[in-house]
Amino acid sequence: MTDDTPLLEVRNLVKHFHVGGGLFGGTAGIVRAVDGVSFTIRRGETLGLVGESGCGKTTTGRCILQLERPTSGQIVFEGSDLTTLSEKELRPVRRKMQVIFQDPYSSLNPRMTVGQIIAEPVAVHGIVTDRAKRAERVRELLSHVGLLPQHAQRYPHQLSGGQRQRVGIARALAVEPALIICDEPVSALDVSIQAQIVNLLEDLQAQFGLTYLFVAHDLSVVRHISDRVAVMYLGKIVEITDRKSLYDDPRHPYTKALLSAVPIPDPELEARREHIVLGGEVPSALNPPSGCVFHPRCPIAVDRCRGEVPELREIRPGHRAACILA
Ligand code: SF4
Repeated sequence: MTDDTPLLEVRNLVKHFHVGGGLFGGTAGIVRAVDGVSFTIRRGETLGLVGESGCGKTTTGRCILQLERPTSGQIVFEGSDLTTLSEKELRPVRRKMQVIFQDPYSSLNPRMTVGQIIAEPVAVHGIVTDRAKRAERVRELLSHVGLLPQHAQRYPHQLSGGQRQRVGIARALAVEPALIICDEPVSALDVSIQAQIVNLLEDLQAQFGLTYLFVAHDLSVVRHISDRVAVMYLGKIVEITDRKSLYDDPRHPYTKALLSAVPIPDPELEARREHIVLGGEVPSALNPPSGCVFHPRCPIAVDRCRGEVPELREIRPGHRAACILA
């Protein structure tokens, strides 16, 4: 269930990193990791954020969480601009925003049992102070994510990849967050397990009214779970719309290329469809191309694309694309 109140508004977010190595130890250049990104997420909604490695999607997530302070722009969460808050003021906000990582193994302390891992944030944030009640809360959280009470005594290395990710989800849920940033949460898992984790995230969303920013590098993963999808390329959003419009009628050539790489289960349809293969690599964010940053790889680029920066404009209600030909 979504309502119309934005839980999160990202306004013109910019994150530049200075790269050393210049003369006399000076700056050699600026990496424009995120370059003017804006979107909102309503309560109870899932926004998929998709793009190739290095497009800025993870940095966007880290700026929302204030793990990186933005170069400019605003991150408005539950009505307050996080970029203006001190570390102390951010503490209660951090509890409401949690993250689920791609690799649960490296994000879980190997020397702690599953029970300790899940109980830790409950204790740190003073949610349940009584020890016995905390153990009860851990059992409840394990059951929410489809694990058994006896898993509390195990260590991360004694679990499968899917079980470890369930522990990561339980730990995020433990502090009763409003927003969870799912940073490629299924990319490291077997395909057979991926759907189980995505389904679990959906069930938990329905049960606890969670809001998700779901970061992924391909469009097939976010299709099932997203209400809307934003596609990023070289630090910018190039297309954003609801799921149906994006998958049925993509307007940006980059989105079309990404979609053409997603296999269709019907072999006949799959054999007949057009596959768009993009030439070259994603250019460096240290020295982005002029005009439309996608022009060196765009199959339909025209001369104008080299000099004109396309704005992310509304091409029909609720559907925006950054292409002069869209
Ligand atoms: Fe391609 Fe030009 Fe559109 Fe950019 S503006 S996506 S280069 S057609």
